Amino acid sequence: MKQTFHITTFGCQMNEHDSETIAGMLSGLDYTPSASRNDADVIIINTCSVRENADHRFFGTLGQLKRIRKERPDLIVAVCGCMMQQQHVIDKLKSQYPWVDLIFGTHTIHRFPELLQNVRQERVKLVDVMEDSEEIVEGLPVRRNHPNKAYVNIMYGCNNFCTYCIVPYTRGRERSRDTEEILREVKELVKDGVKEITLLGQNVNSYRGTGRQGQRIEFADLITELDRIHGLSRIRFMTSHPKDLSDALILAYRNCPSLCPHIHLPVQSGSTSVLERMNRKYNREDYIALVERLRSVCPDIAITTDIIVGFPGETEEEFQDTLRLVEEIEFDSAFTFLYSIRKGTPAETFEDQVPEEIKHERFNRLVETVNRISAKKNATKVGCVEDVLVEGASKSNDRVYTGRTGGFKLVNFKGPEGSKGTVVSVRITDSNTFSLTGVVECDE
Ligand code: SF4
Repeated sequence: MKQTFHITTFGCQMNEHDSETIAGMLSGLDYTPSASRNDADVIIINTCSVRENADHRFFGTLGQLKRIRKERPDLIVAVCGCMMQQQHVIDKLKSQYPWVDLIFGTHTIHRFPELLQNVRQERVKLVDVMEDSEEIVEGLPVRRNHPNKAYVNIMYGCNNFCTYCIVPYTRGRERSRDTEEILREVKELVKDGVKEITLLGQNVNSYRGTGRQGQRIEFADLITELDRIHGLSRIRFMTSHPKDLSDALILAYRNCPSLCPHIHLPVQSGSTSVLERMNRKYNREDYIALVERLRSVCPDIAITTDIIVGFPGETEEEFQDTLRLVEEIEFDSAFTFLYSIRKGTPAETFEDQVPEEIKHERFNRLVETVNRISAKKNATKVGCVEDVLVEGASKSNDRVYTGRTGGFKLVNFKGPEGSKGTVVSVRITDSNTFSLTGVVECDE
């Protein structure tokens, strides 16, 4: 009987893609995926250290595995991801969670097959974590979650040291993949039926590659090269930093037809003084000017963002600046977060931590504002025809589909059988805060 695996992933798209790579390596070892942890021979938990909530959920999930491991002593429990780059987490796992067999970090994913074989054969416990590494390992197998969409890592790490963020300490300094390797990978993906790629990195727009003639390749140049690949319909990227949003990249929205009219541009706060304390290296006016430039080049561009509420020292007036910015920019949507202390970051030591009840009260006001604007923006789409990449069919009715517009809006719509994986034109008939509804006008 084939051995089976189950992966639980916390966190961002980088982690989702790392899990696809882990699944690819396991498939190479002849493991098959299991729908439930209860039946899996290997359970992997890929962790995220960015928010406190993901920490809690990780330890909660790990606690549940104690019983399964007791019932099935042959089960192998492996944990990986950003949290494993923190010594205090490893110490806690060793002392309180003895049913964890294998710990590996973000820099040692490529060694996972070898580590797993060692744990299986020798029944030893292994920890394989590197503090930092310049190495980029190419050509690891990937088991994609979607046949027509793919994540492509273009860079790793971050040099920005925002004062609330643990990523530079867990993922290391920025290093960009070789441009030719990226182009080769994307061409292979397109041959394999992929229509949409999402370029991934903690700070994709600070990408610095090298071209075939040794010339420097900036992020906008990379987009231009990718746009030339025949058969690639859509290019997205995640996530970008406002300070690195160049004019060349803004112009790419006009010049590169496959670059989707959407940007996720985390603002984090609408207050210049808070942005300064966050070490974001731009101010409120800089951000507004960037949005104006983007909209002047691409009037229909969808702009989404991340906002942190209750950063240390945030006053009501500073929070009001954020609310005013949200009203002024009218984001298509926003991920809103309550600030939580991350051990080892500068903001951990900041005085004036905002009391929880104030954070929650501000958070609720922010969410109400963000949602009201999202509903209003979505309502402007009613009556329009949008190109939608069909991602899936509803479980109850195989002619009801879901997909995304170029502006990343979720659409539920009726269409002909077999639409999955195609790009179809959908007339939008209705909308709400989080999605659009429509009917197919014509096939691709
Ligand atoms: S840009 Fe700032 S928030 Fe983003 S990963 Fe780097 S340090 Fe963290």
